[in-house]
Amino acid sequence: MEHRKVIIIGSGPAGLTAALYAARANLNPLVFEGNQPGGQLTITTEVENYPGFPEGIQGPKLMDEMRKQAQRFGAASKFEHVSKVDFGERPFKVFVGETQYKADAVVVSTGASAKLLGLDSEKEYMGYGVSACATCDGFFFKEQEVAVIGGGDTAMEEALYLTKYATKVTLIHRREELRASKIMQERALNNPKIAFKWNSVVEEVKGVEENGLKKMTHLVLKNVNTGELEDFPVQGLFIGIGHKPNTELFEGILDMDETGYLKTQGKSTYTNIEGVFACGDVQDHVYRQAVSAAGTGCMAAIDAERWLAAHGIE
Ligand code: NDP
Repeated sequence: MEHRKVIIIGSGPAGLTAALYAARANLNPLVFEGNQPGGQLTITTEVENYPGFPEGIQGPKLMDEMRKQAQRFGAASKFEHVSKVDFGERPFKVFVGETQYKADAVVVSTGASAKLLGLDSEKEYMGYGVSACATCDGFFFKEQEVAVIGGGDTAMEEALYLTKYATKVTLIHRREELRASKIMQERALNNPKIAFKWNSVVEEVKGVEENGLKKMTHLVLKNVNTGELEDFPVQGLFIGIGHKPNTELFEGILDMDETGYLKTQGKSTYTNIEGVFACGDVQDHVYRQAVSAAGTGCMAAIDAERWLAAHGIE
């Protein structure tokens, strides 16, 4: 059974920065990259706010560079998804299906994922008109009409981005007041291509099948005040209602807040289990930036290194 000093679960900026620091500290880390190697940045295009890249850098390229940098110092990656953990005793156990790995310390950097509405028809049309990522899929909606769900900064950002392609973007929100920051609200409200539909929720996504391919044609919207239903023709639906942390693996094991984000202690990356550290979006619902995730990844590796040294593992 493979035994590592440090196992890192998750491969976004937090995980790969933890890998870089752990590797440079000779801790020989193994990164489980999961179902989305490189994390959320791999489904974005241009990243303009990562320091050091004045001209911007493509998200997937940034993540490839981070991985290479960590590997240069001896970090290893497995493109596998961790299915279970056992933090009951040390060394800790990490499972990929039936295969077990042992680790003296674990860094959890499993990130967060976009939330969905939870409708069957949303699932049915995912990839056939429904998307949770404007920067990934906006391009496919050139000269079409699309809707964005949500009233926060994510929804504003998605709507503004989509105006590059779509002829009209309708922001559908369940209240008549936006949650987004003032500056983002103003940008969206002042954009002539963006219309607003207030007090409305999606009841169903409808479409047709053409040449064996599903194609979305309209939404059934419900006015939350009157209960009235309405057919609303759009070819695309972007869900921008926030994110949820990827913490199912740790339920009942690591302390979480009421929305499922991992709790860390004070200014550290310590979780409630000694030797298990958490960094990145899985423990941060406030900043959620690549650079802040990378920063906490660095902290987790330093915390792990010092903790291992204090326990005689160097
Ligand atoms: P938020 O939680 O801020 O907003 C989620 C929005 O979606 C709310 O308006 C909410 O409605 C709505 N919503 C939630 N669930 C449903 C549902 N089931 N059906 C319909 N509507 C729903 O999440 P964001 O992702 O927008 O933002 C999270 C954080 O990230 C914020 O701090 C934000 O400032 C930050 N951020 C910053 C950006 C930037 O500065 N460029 C870009 C993106 C995010 P309601 O208001 O009624 O609760």
